Amino acid sequence: MQVLTTIDAVRTARARFDQIGLVPTMGYLHEGHLSLVRRAREECGAVAVSIFVNPTQFSPREDFSRYPRDLERDLRLLEAEGVDLVFTPAPGEIYPEGFGTYVVLPAADEVLEGAARPSHFRGVATVVCKLLNIVQPTRAYFGQKDAQQTVVVRQMVRDLNIPTTIVVAPTVREPDGLAMSSRNTYLTSEQRAVAPVIYRALRAAAQSYQAGERDATCLRQQIADLLASEPLVKPEYISLADPMTLLELDTIGARGALISLAARLGSVRLIDNLLLD
Ligand code: AMP
Repeated sequence: MQVLTTIDAVRTARARFDQIGLVPTMGYLHEGHLSLVRRAREECGAVAVSIFVNPTQFSPREDFSRYPRDLERDLRLLEAEGVDLVFTPAPGEIYPEGFGTYVVLPAADEVLEGAARPSHFRGVATVVCKLLNIVQPTRAYFGQKDAQQTVVVRQMVRDLNIPTTIVVAPTVREPDGLAMSSRNTYLTSEQRAVAPVIYRALRAAAQSYQAGERDATCLRQQIADLLASEPLVKPEYISLADPMTLLELDTIGARGALISLAARLGSVRLIDNLLLD
């Protein structure tokens, strides 16, 4: 496994492979990330993983400096998965003096995570665009856990004619249903114990949908009521949106819906979602 910190070294190393899959991450790896690595290996043979806590996708009020990091452990996990290349650039390698070009998708900033986190998707789209240009992967792998990110990345790749196939893989969960996330490590044991209500609430709404409920307001209310049973969990938004445009729905039609929510447990902000199709 080659661990590389410069763009030049990645370009040289990448040239040895015909096909390669890229898994972009911010590190502090868990089974969710590793599921993407395994999928990339199955489909592409060779795998590159980037580990980069991207400063431009955090607002000044967010957790950039305290975002969990453990590079040694991450490298051990990736070595055990048979990863070929790991790219761990310093911020100055990605954003050198004089850097000034950003990828902006204005519609993404109007809804869901984009509305809650101004300029977040500008940072995400910019860094993913750069990573795709640097590694030039055949396919790049993203988790359904970050549903709006997958919509943003797909649109960017389409709009900018980037010759990489985007693959979205299912959310990996803890046995009690909590979506795996590097941020789960911030939870106190009390918060961790109640956090699975998030998935229970999403599942309950999905069951109502399967039983025939199509009124989005009723489904949002059902989720809100279930979350209210755990006062430590404070919802920031509860959304039933069109899975492609991410615009809020009144009634769920033939395209189904993305049910998604963000909730705070103390200062920890968690997101989760389910697709209804
Ligand atoms: P992150 O390190 O949080 O930026 O995540 C890197 C990639 O892993 C993104 O494409 C995430 O959507 C994906 N990911 C994070 N958590 C999970 C999970 N629980 N299941 C599947 N993919 C995940």
